[in-house]
Parts: sequence; structure tokens; C-alpha cells
Amino acid sequence: MHKSGDKLRRVIVDLKERDRIVASLHADQVGGCHCGQSATLRKVTERFWWRNVTADTRDYVRSCAVCQKANPRNKSPPATLHPIPVHGIFHRWGTDLVGPLKETANGNKYIIQILSGDIVPLSKQKSHR
Ligand SMILES: [Zn+2]
Repeated sequence: MHKSGDKLRRVIVDLKERDRIVASLHADQVGGCHCGQSATLRKVTERFWWRNVTADTRDYVRSCAVCQKANPRNKSPPATLHPIPVHGIFHRWGTDLVGPLKETANGNKYIIQILSGDIVPLSKQKSHR
């Protein structure tokens, strides 16, 4: 930004330099901030000017992949939880098939895991082999 008396002077930019300037002020490791459209536009227009500077800057920020990932408005809200009614022990089962794994001597190469979604209170814990 160049100030001469009370007048603000900005550099008028060549077509080839526009994307580089916006990218630098928006996303560079040094000086970039991944700020929103307005903040990036303010940074650009403090120093530079060209026809369509506002549209060019907003388009660039809108298409920035880093900002799109970070913007909370682009993420779907967390799903709501729905209680699952309990109808007694072993009422609901879940299964998971794992494999193929390294084949055993018996020719097995898959594991099936079967789970009950129940929580069962126990007074003692003991394992038997
Ligand atoms: Zn960004």
C-alpha cells in the first residue's frame, strides 16, 4: 500500500499476476491465513486493484480446498442418536466376518464374530480354559 498525502495508492495488476497474488495472500505459508472471503479481499485490496478484484478473490476463496474442508457449514450435522429398545437378553445380534486370513492347517481362513448387543451384569468374573 502506498500512501501519498491522504490518497491511497494501490498497484494495478496484470492479468497473469492476479491468481498468484490472491493465492499468496490467502494460502501461502507466510502471510496466508485461509481467512474468509472478506478478510482475503481486504488484504488484496489494501495493496492491489484490478477490474473484478472482488469476484476473482471470492471465487478463489470459495474454491480453496483447505477452506472447504475446514468450514463448519460444509459439514453435515452429527447424526442424532436413536435409542434401541431392549426386549431381553440375546434379542439383538451382530455379526462380523473377517478374512481372508492366512489359512490354518485345518483349511480355515475366515473368522466370524457374533456379538450380542446386551450388557449383562455379573457378580463375579472367571475364565475357564
Ligand atoms: Zn483457504
